[in-house]
Amino acid sequence: MSPQTLSASAQPGAKALRKRILTGDRPTGKLHVGHYVGTLANRVKLQDEYETFLLIADYHMLTTRLEKLEEIEQNIRDDVIDNLAVGVDPDKVTYFLQSRVPEIPELHLYFSMLVSVPRAQRIPTLKDAMRDHGLREPTYGLLGYPILQAADILCVKGDLVPVGRDNESHVEITREIARKFNELFAPVFPVPRALIPEIGLLPGIDGREKMGKSLGNAINLSDDPKVVEKKVMSMYTDPTRLRPTDPGTVEGNPVFVYHDTFNTDKAEVDDLKDRYRRGAVGDVEVKRKLIVALERFLEPIREKRAEIERRPGLVDEILESGTIRARAEAQRTLHEVREAMKLDYFGS
Ligand code: ATP
Ligand code: MG
Repeated sequence: MSPQTLSASAQPGAKALRKRILTGDRPTGKLHVGHYVGTLANRVKLQDEYETFLLIADYHMLTTRLEKLEEIEQNIRDDVIDNLAVGVDPDKVTYFLQSRVPEIPELHLYFSMLVSVPRAQRIPTLKDAMRDHGLREPTYGLLGYPILQAADILCVKGDLVPVGRDNESHVEITREIARKFNELFAPVFPVPRALIPEIGLLPGIDGREKMGKSLGNAINLSDDPKVVEKKVMSMYTDPTRLRPTDPGTVEGNPVFVYHDTFNTDKAEVDDLKDRYRRGAVGDVEVKRKLIVALERFLEPIREKRAEIERRPGLVDEILESGTIRARAEAQRTLHEVREAMKLDYFGS
């Protein structure tokens, strides 16, 4: 734990020394290379500059899934391990569990008074979630998902939210809520900003717009080399190209999107693109080279994972101590909120 983080959160009412990041994952399964480009890379890059809070959002999982809940525990552990394995340092970053911070649902309730039902219905991810999870109508909980996310972000007064493009509209509504609260009651909250990588969203191996952990189209950070090979060899490419001598399309072709993202040998990528366009390279060679590039990226992550897995108890320790710290922050925020809203009959 760095001295800075400690002093920023040790004294009640102390002002944060650094700007804050709030970021997080739903414990719905193992993290994949899309998460890496969407948010994990920024978590690692910014963890020295920002005081970072990493939320494991188990309540959010309930919005789309009420079966196989016995998997949550393992998913929570996997999520922490995936983050540790890519270098999200627990000495710098506060890992915490949403369902152990009751101030979050309390804040969610207050925020739900600030958002109209049509506004919540217009948030584009609602339709996406219904489609992806085969739901005919949303529950009240699913409709409120983005407002719960606003409570996640604002309970620790996050300034910056590194997320994939699919979460942009949630940060937008968080900004609206923060402004509205500050105007109506008192200036308690920062107006946070989304940090979205240039790529926006990494496509799935099936060519769908988003690689998603609940969509069965992901290369996981924990996949072993054989699985990575199999997945890459089965990847969707240019469907109109039948022979290696046919000119192919590079733009939007997921194999080349992955090359652009993970292959550090830019000259090789340019050469492959050029030959692909001319019909002078087969899909197999392009994929083989992608496997090599992905392995260069994944191997150090595997090594770190093996190291972490040799230390039983580490994950729970990190999550427990982080949750205590994050909860203390949320409690401070909620004191201010109750005071501002005159909900402090017995003291806030
Ligand atoms: P689920 O389908 O269960 O919601 P998910 O794959 O969307 O799973 P989340 O835990 O919801 O994963 O998202 C964690 C973070 O990763 C979010 O910031 C999200 O925007 C980002 N993310 C998820 N998928 C991608 C992707 N394909 N490309 C870039 N960022 C992504
Ligand atoms: Mg998601």
